[in-house]
Amino acid sequence: MAILVVGGAGYIGSHVARALRRSGYEVVLYDNLSTGFRRLAQGFELVVGDIADQARPRPVLARADAVMHFAAHAYVGESVTNPRKYFHNNVAASLTLLDSALDAGIRRFVFSSSCAVYGVPKNIPITEQTQRQPVNPYGVSKLFFENALEAYARAYGLRSVCLRYFNAAGADESGEIGELHDPETHLIPLALAASAANGPELQIHGCDYPTSDGTCIRDYIHVNDLADAHVRALHHLEADKESGAESLAINLGTGRGHSVLEVIEAVESVTGRRVRRKLGPRRPGDPPALVADPAKAQSVLGWTARRNLTDMVSSAWAWMQKGSQYPRIGPQSAAKLPAALRARL
Ligand code: UDP
Repeated sequence: MAILVVGGAGYIGSHVARALRRSGYEVVLYDNLSTGFRRLAQGFELVVGDIADQARPRPVLARADAVMHFAAHAYVGESVTNPRKYFHNNVAASLTLLDSALDAGIRRFVFSSSCAVYGVPKNIPITEQTQRQPVNPYGVSKLFFENALEAYARAYGLRSVCLRYFNAAGADESGEIGELHDPETHLIPLALAASAANGPELQIHGCDYPTSDGTCIRDYIHVNDLADAHVRALHHLEADKESGAESLAINLGTGRGHSVLEVIEAVESVTGRRVRRKLGPRRPGDPPALVADPAKAQSVLGWTARRNLTDMVSSAWAWMQKGSQYPRIGPQSAAKLPAALRARL
């Protein structure tokens, strides 16, 4: 059975591709390499192409039994300043891919969704029933595609699973692949970089949130736990195919939240070095706390996260050291800090 992993040269897609192959699937990657990396696709058949192109994926779709779609822009801040980029790729081009898959006779589709569809939820932990009210164009684009999958299930008999990731982190334990973003904006790689002797300082985005220590709380989930959930989602779509059309949505998180300061402590304990940091203002669009209720993933897919924060940080650290893979840091906010924040440095 062949699976087309669209966006397979990216961070999460490349880990899922390996998990699929380990489970015995034939895997073909499709990626335009705009944010993906050839080195993450090494050892796989890679077709370089864009999802907006109808002709290019046709031959590989003809060979595929299912599609997994990871090819998205995923910087929340950028989606606010450049929404057309997000709607163009994550909505319009993604619909082109979906239609191409449907026209090729594919009826099984796994979609990378995000906890960003929930916006700023009133209650934690977040269940799949929590109202979806995204607060930025990135979240809106994910919600749109989820809605499209629901409509396509009803109208065309498509069977799909939307996997709503919380905060993906960590690296494959083989050390062969890991997190690569350019620029890097995510907390764990930046905190690891800030623990290097001459590493750039980490900026903590806000310490006045209504949380236990004032910093944001997130549910970090190991990328290989995510990968395992994708394989299970595919098994689910295969196993219940007699039951017809279906559009499932499932949270993927550990159910445990960690504050930014707790992540920094974990990084310091793994590296044995101090994370150089400074307090900065809040990052626009950041909700105070996002923690999954992962019960549905357990009941429907038989999945639970097996790795903890230390596993994520140590695998990310191993990957970073192995490849001297220090992230390229994006432009940091140069905003002046209020005196009260400076005093806490
Ligand atoms: N964060 C931070 N400094 C950074 C990057 C991230 O304080 O340089 C915080 C961010 O505000 C959020 C958490 O770390 O509360 C996780 O952010 P990340 O960008 O890793 O993932 P996101 O939650 O945006 O998907």
